[in-house]
Amino acid sequence: MDLGCDGPISVAGGDSFRADGEPLAGGRADLDLDLNGDRLREECGVFGIYNHPEAAAITAIGLHALQHRGQEAAGIVSYDGRRFHSERRLGLVGDAFSDAGVIARLPGDSAVGHVRYSTTGETLLRNVQPLFAELDAGGFAVGHNGNLTNGLTLRRQLVREGAITQSTTDTEVILHLVARSRKPRFVDRFIDAIRTLEGAYSLVALTNKKLIGARDPLGIRPLVLGSLDGSPILASETCALDIIGARYVRDIENGEVIVIDEEGVQSFKPFPEMAPRPCIFEYIYFARPDSVVGGRSVYQVRKNMGRVLATESPANADVIVPVPDSGVPAAIGFSQTSGIPYELGIIRNHYVGRTFIQPTQSIRDQGVRMKHSANRSVVEGKSIVLVDDSLVRGTTSVKIVQMMRDAGAKEVHFRIASPPITHPDYYGIDTPDRDKLLAATHDLEGMRRYIGADSLAFLSVDGVYRAMGFEGRDPVKPQFTDHCFTGDYPTPLTDRAGAVAQQQLSLLAEAS
Ligand code: AMP
Repeated sequence: MDLGCDGPISVAGGDSFRADGEPLAGGRADLDLDLNGDRLREECGVFGIYNHPEAAAITAIGLHALQHRGQEAAGIVSYDGRRFHSERRLGLVGDAFSDAGVIARLPGDSAVGHVRYSTTGETLLRNVQPLFAELDAGGFAVGHNGNLTNGLTLRRQLVREGAITQSTTDTEVILHLVARSRKPRFVDRFIDAIRTLEGAYSLVALTNKKLIGARDPLGIRPLVLGSLDGSPILASETCALDIIGARYVRDIENGEVIVIDEEGVQSFKPFPEMAPRPCIFEYIYFARPDSVVGGRSVYQVRKNMGRVLATESPANADVIVPVPDSGVPAAIGFSQTSGIPYELGIIRNHYVGRTFIQPTQSIRDQGVRMKHSANRSVVEGKSIVLVDDSLVRGTTSVKIVQMMRDAGAKEVHFRIASPPITHPDYYGIDTPDRDKLLAATHDLEGMRRYIGADSLAFLSVDGVYRAMGFEGRDPVKPQFTDHCFTGDYPTPLTDRAGAVAQQQLSLLAEAS
């Protein structure tokens, strides 16, 4: 799609309006979404490159390395010095951007790209990023990893004031805020806009002159700066640099805005200085194990989590069996510390997508059976320790414990290399509502019974921090955000507070 450079404000995309016919903003329905439907929560990866003759092709390869961060849709916007071009597709990067024709339709030396996995129902093309708008200063494309905790509130305000929205993503709010700022310089407009945001955002943005990156004041989601033969790159993770042979330069800091243009790379710090609180779940599950996040190898951290877990909650068993692939590094660490041999007691079919991304519970249940098979030769007659990185709904664990028993395991001990997830995430990791989190509704013995294991243990919160090289969690100034395990959300949850208040008001109204 050729987006041109002038004309009215428009957002690229343009498929049909919301399938369920709900209003896009305003009214209770919208806020209910946040409470009940998770709809605006996203998992994503971003990539951007400046001044490279094959900007779009490099972006597609970078996104391919970030595919684990979102598998539902991918998009690239390029700029060729005159016009912006956009290709946004549902599906995997490899499918969406494999034919040379698509890349040929994305000419130019600069590009930004995005991979996305949104939760329930929101696979519409018009939500696929990067979003694009024609502003009075020229075209502006933005890709967002993270989730705003005041996105709905801002959207309602904007709509009340006459803004027309076309997507259901909170990212669109950023376009509007930039459009409304009256600051003379573009960078100041961008900064004006992000000052209004609460929650998590790692952004890549493209204008006709600049590639811009930004990380929220706490640095909740990751963003790194790289360089390919002198062409600056922004990416969610270092694995996207490795795949194209680019050099890692540094992490973008929390609260930093980085502007890349003809004059080079400039850094701005528009927020009051704050201690970073990157999300600990990147290390536990989200990031790819070969990435280095915040200076730490994700693989080594996961292995350490397994080591600490083996010390905290040892098990008497014949073999350590990882739940593939998520439990592999932790199981290796567990095995090395316990001295119990590591064996592949479960074989994964690599041609089935992640269980978690199947939209309904029944399909999710089936997915687990399709995805894993028992390796009877390892399991039969043995006492085994299953190791996984996390337990969310418990779906995977129930199936796998049963599968191990069916394959003749004598005893099945389950070890989880993270603490119980008792709180939903509001910052861009897809977790279900609280009532579907096993650890929020069951105590340890209840969970053990639910998954059918002979014993069950989780890594402690301090254990996670020990695995990261600290003595434990700093109770005064926690080094990370670990809200999923502690309920300690590091930003206001404005949308949620509004939704709860509305719900209480309507309950009161019903009661009176
Ligand atoms: P569950 O079966 O619901 O308990 O989910 C646990 C499994 O899902 C583990 O194997 C994790 O590796 C994986 N997992 C954890 N968090 C997420 C997430 N946010 N998105 C997708 N998968 C996840």
